[in-house]
Amino acid sequence: MRDEVALITGGARGIGKAIALRFAQEGYKVAVCDLASKCDDVVQKIKDKGGQALGLSCDITDPLMVKEMIDQIIAAFGRLDVLVNNAGIAQDNLLPRISDEEWLQTINTNLTGTFYCTRAAIRPMLKQKKGRIINISSVVGLRGNAGQSHYAASKAGIIGFTKAIAREYGSRGITANAVAPGYIQTDMTAHLPKEYWKDILNSIPLKRPGTPEDIAGVVAFLASADAAYITGQVIAVDGGLM
Ligand code: NAD
Repeated sequence: MRDEVALITGGARGIGKAIALRFAQEGYKVAVCDLASKCDDVVQKIKDKGGQALGLSCDITDPLMVKEMIDQIIAAFGRLDVLVNNAGIAQDNLLPRISDEEWLQTINTNLTGTFYCTRAAIRPMLKQKKGRIINISSVVGLRGNAGQSHYAASKAGIIGFTKAIAREYGSRGITANAVAPGYIQTDMTAHLPKEYWKDILNSIPLKRPGTPEDIAGVVAFLASADAAYITGQVIAVDGGLM
């Protein structure tokens, strides 16, 4: 075990779960948060392999819950070194059909949730004079996607936010980077019809969808000592799609 502590939001399944398991494998103490008690399975998996894990029920759109979550992590582990803002939702709709609620839900979860978690996590990182913030954006935030204007806006917002934080806290030993996944096989993309996948695969030079582990490896690299001189970057992990 190492001393460092990593928090992964939305870590109950998909990309977040793969990131949590990867960090545990690398010896981090892992805090995993997700909506109501969803983290039990991933926490058990980590403990079964001899790792240390803390599962937290937290809706990242609630600033009070987020603050309490960070307090709980500090109480349990004494520090917080890595924040992975992974929790997110995707909704598909054409612009005229996007309701105010749908727009706000997407922005509140993906962008405002990332803000709440980063704002709360920055204090212990400033005390430690060391921290890594890794935000999960999307290639959709870089290039747009028809039927996902709200999702694209939230993911592009994450990129601007990441670059601002990188400039604001570089001098305090804190780096901030974004990872922009392409099409990754998770529950989020499971509903896409076969024909759509066929078209997507045609436009991906590596001719396969990504796996959650493809993303976890890059996130682990950005948290590692090898990435000490990287900040303010957006790394597309998309099989060449961009
Ligand atoms: P997923 O739907 O499988 O998992 C997302 C997790 O976030 C779920 O466990 C969910 O409960 C949690 N979550 C949602 N709202 C939350 C909230 N308010 N508070 C706490 N937890 C919440 O999705 P995934 O495919 O694993 O995606 C993870 C991240 O990667 C998301 O930010 C997504 O936008 C991004 N991404 C995914 C893809 C892809 O192809 N799957 C591509 C690009 C970017």
